[in-house]
Amino acid sequence: MTTTSQAPNPAPQAPSATAQSTRGNSRRRSTARGRLIGAARRLREVGSIASALASTAHPYMAHIVPMRRCNLACTYCNEFDDVSSPVEIEEMRRRVGHLGRLGTSVITISGGEPLLHPELEEVIRSIRATGAIAGMITNGYLLMPERIERLNRAGLDHMQISIDNVMPDEVSKKSLKVLDAKLAMLAEHAEFHVNINSVVGGGIASPEDALTISRRALGLGFSSTIGIIHDGSGQLKPLGNRERKVWDEVRRLTRRSYSRFNGFQEAIANGLPNDWRCRAGSRYLYVDENGIVSYCSQQRGYPGVPIAEYTTEMVKREFLTEKSCAPNCTISCVHQVSYIDHWRAPQKTTVTPGGAGHGANSGLVQIQ
Ligand code: SF4
Ligand code: SF4
Repeated sequence: MTTTSQAPNPAPQAPSATAQSTRGNSRRRSTARGRLIGAARRLREVGSIASALASTAHPYMAHIVPMRRCNLACTYCNEFDDVSSPVEIEEMRRRVGHLGRLGTSVITISGGEPLLHPELEEVIRSIRATGAIAGMITNGYLLMPERIERLNRAGLDHMQISIDNVMPDEVSKKSLKVLDAKLAMLAEHAEFHVNINSVVGGGIASPEDALTISRRALGLGFSSTIGIIHDGSGQLKPLGNRERKVWDEVRRLTRRSYSRFNGFQEAIANGLPNDWRCRAGSRYLYVDENGIVSYCSQQRGYPGVPIAEYTTEMVKREFLTEKSCAPNCTISCVHQVSYIDHWRAPQKTTVTPGGAGHGANSGLVQIQ
């Protein structure tokens, strides 16, 4: 979910019209129960924003990893392995409980692949028990109607699936061809909000795929967003002409679901650094499979404190700490969360790449 510098891929082909029609094209079901669940969820979301505006002393969002193992191996990804075991459910409950103690508003299960965790639904229940909004990010491969119903019953609020291309290639198997049947299952069974994220940028051979993916997502009644994967050259670069055209078109299509909190991506699309205050370690926490709090998935080990020992004082300190990797950062969830406080509380101290920080290690790595 970070950067990629892959060789060009074979040109993907769109699934045939026949293949699409056999997979089910029905929009997501609208039932009285579904509308009620959606309305209650939106109310809780409004409450979470209000509480974030009222106080800066608690995290807004945390990503928590219940297992690092993944059933795929996308070549740009550095957030998985193929060996690790699931974190035991009692330990997951404790970690989620600590996030609740800190007052975290939204807890999103990330990975690796969360659906590999045998007691994922129990993790979701423990999140809901804290009063937080429960989300998950998945590659969707293991979704089946029965599993979706279990996620409904557990109280999942949001699911995000990132689809990288139309046809699988050596970079990514997160393809519309493979996942289209799963999207149809979600449209039929899911009571939670579903967002489909498409991407343009390094390693993605056909930028037009993002448009196909977004159209399909919107056609099924989901929301859709688009992100940028950068290649490994180490610098922000403006999108090329083809990518730019797709980028503009997808943003036009998804205007309703494309929140203005994603405005920072406009600068990234133009190859420009962003001027913003990263509130990682405070408004956003990344809790890895070992229960260690990091700023984000790309700065593992900073500040490097076990979640059980993370305090409100640390939340307050990190709120006011500038991260010098911020200008070139492309981590959208932290940008979005930090936007809540962009108008207040200038940061007073700085954690410098290669310099002395207040974490367990000596400094941050500049994100490229
Ligand atoms: S599916 Fe997600 S976690 Fe797994 S390898 Fe791909 S990007 Fe990484
Ligand atoms: S600015 Fe640095 S610490 Fe903050 S999200 Fe980006 S990479 Fe992570």
